[in-house]
Amino acid sequence: MRKRRTIDRSLKTIMCKRNAGEDGRSYIHANEWNELVPEDNRLESPNKNARRPASMIPTHIVIHITGNDCLKEVKDIYRARNSVSPHYLVTQTGELFQFVKDAERAWHSGIDLLTANLYGWGYNNWSKYLTYFAWYKDYPEGAVYLNEELSPVRMEQAKFVAMHDYQTWPDFSYFRRRWPRRDIPVNFNVDTDPNNYSIGIECLSLGAKTKNKHAYSAEMYKTLRSLVKNLCKKYTIPRKKGYVVGHEDVNPVGRWGWDPNSGFNWNRICQR
Ligand SMILES: [Zn+2]
Repeated sequence: MRKRRTIDRSLKTIMCKRNAGEDGRSYIHANEWNELVPEDNRLESPNKNARRPASMIPTHIVIHITGNDCLKEVKDIYRARNSVSPHYLVTQTGELFQFVKDAERAWHSGIDLLTANLYGWGYNNWSKYLTYFAWYKDYPEGAVYLNEELSPVRMEQAKFVAMHDYQTWPDFSYFRRRWPRRDIPVNFNVDTDPNNYSIGIECLSLGAKTKNKHAYSAEMYKTLRSLVKNLCKKYTIPRKKGYVVGHEDVNPVGRWGWDPNSGFNWNRICQR
């Protein structure tokens, strides 16, 4: 009996090693569809590749809003061959979808090189800039539109937007409140590409700047909480601030306090 137990133990060690990443944490289940997702809701996306390094075990969870509340449109976007997909999507009724398996690198929080360079200059510099999006209509009058060299250009050619006097954008007050002493985005000092190390979860929502049950329903929070608990347990991720974060926390210049945004109640999914 004693001998048998010894063999079992060494076999177990080998099995654990095969399922463990470089830091020894478990990676079991990552190559499977999540058991919380109904079979009909497992919709494979082509917008993914291998994690870098491929043995990387997720260390963070990144929460997003879709900015589009049409489920069909959003599903079609993630399944079409383009540049975007999260791992998971949660709807207002609490329905859960999966597009990319946890072991793979979903394209949900990429940071382009120019923006990454800005972060290298510290908060007092990067907080002067927002990414320019043609669809965003609320850049203030008098804003300065800038190209990749930060030279003023016509709006249609812009990459970034600065205030007329190049002061810190007030939109970053949300980031400052959450991270009073942070000079760079969350985990940027460890890895400049959040897609490498995180699992991305989209909430089907237009978002809201104040607490709003229409932007984030009770059913949505319930599913989100179960999913976050499930993932944190599987990959030994602390279920707390700093590890369960928003897209705006890992790329504030690209998302300046609206993804998910200040109406999102982190206490509903994290431990206090
Ligand atoms: Zn996002």
